[in-house]
Amino acid sequence: MKKRIAVLGATGSIGESALDIITRDSENFEIVLLTAHSSRIELEKLKTQFPKAVCILSSEEKGKEKLLSAIKNVKADIVLNGISGAAGLEPSLAAINAGSLLALANKETLVMAGNLILNLAKEKNVNIIPVDSEHSAIFHLLKTINKDELSEIILTASGGPFRKLTLKEMEKVTVEDALAHPTWKMGAKITVDSASMANKGLEIIEACVLFNLPPEKIKVVIHPQSIIHSMIRLSNGVFYAQLSKPDMRHPIHDALYWPHTTPSALEPLNFDSLTLEFSKPEIEKFPMLELAWKAAKQGGLYPCAYNAANEVGVKAFLEKRIGFMDIPEITQRVLEEDWSSDISSLEEILEADKKARIIAVNILKA
Ligand code: NAD
Ligand code: MG
Repeated sequence: MKKRIAVLGATGSIGESALDIITRDSENFEIVLLTAHSSRIELEKLKTQFPKAVCILSSEEKGKEKLLSAIKNVKADIVLNGISGAAGLEPSLAAINAGSLLALANKETLVMAGNLILNLAKEKNVNIIPVDSEHSAIFHLLKTINKDELSEIILTASGGPFRKLTLKEMEKVTVEDALAHPTWKMGAKITVDSASMANKGLEIIEACVLFNLPPEKIKVVIHPQSIIHSMIRLSNGVFYAQLSKPDMRHPIHDALYWPHTTPSALEPLNFDSLTLEFSKPEIEKFPMLELAWKAAKQGGLYPCAYNAANEVGVKAFLEKRIGFMDIPEITQRVLEEDWSSDISSLEEILEADKKARIIAVNILKA
């Protein structure tokens, strides 16, 4: 029986990589749903390529409702969520409610609503398989050990294009500078997040949720080549690492074929001339890291507010309305508000997301 796959955010960078993996194996996979937000022409092209798939353009009138009900109705075996930003949360919930395995690239889902998502997945007996490369690496490394042997997780970070700049120089970088990522080709939002290391911040929170660990057990190391996708340290002092070329098709392949390790046609890593470097992240240049550890420790709605403030900041930066270092400044100020709460519902999370955005926009205007 073919696995029926829904690809959310099919026109994006993750979506494109996912469609590549899926179309290489039409014997085992069938696409049943493709969604995009505003890329109408790209979605129409996909519609001709996959005529049997339901196609949803979510920026249309009632687009969000159509998207959520399509996820419910198609009842895919696997929903791959490659939507960018907070807009990915409700589709993730819809996928779990439909009983579909959730292959999750949209890290915002777990940052905003970690416990809600995990509890619902448990209740519906649904597996969540991370697609974010670091979390995919850790997820697969953890299969090889007993969880009580684990001492800590080390997330690798490329360090982005501004790794070697001074703080003064970082204040003057342009949108074009921020969009020139050295190792990964990704959507604009996550590329800016990589440059500010907010992406790693979101990933710290994502790792706490997925692997049920306190933030102090999640470390970050700069590794500019992006060959080691992450590491775990065991209590005996030994590290396990996962290595491959920096190509998102690897973690997508692993999620779509989970729980099996299936041969892939992706080109393997060549060790003949490979240099791997590591260094410590410079916290003062990348305040988004420290803010994420703090938000993860504070819990409640702090991670949700962190994400919302950062999204507002990134959007304003991409629109050239603020400077690059204003992004952490805005986020920090939003996090100075009280976001403590025992999160119980989606409504509460969406309300906090909205409130954090309003506060961030007001800071921008001031
Ligand atoms: P992208 O900008 O290239 O694509 C985003 C996709 O989501 C597009 O298809 C777009 O139409 C759709 N979309 C945008 N806004 C939407 C909305 N409001 N409602 C519904 N759909 C919407 O982004 P990307 O780089 O593919 O990243 C997607 C997600 O995967 C993000 O959460 C990102 O953090 C995560 N991720 C990406 C990479 C990567 O290499 N690109 C790696 C790890 C994790
Ligand atoms: Mg990642």
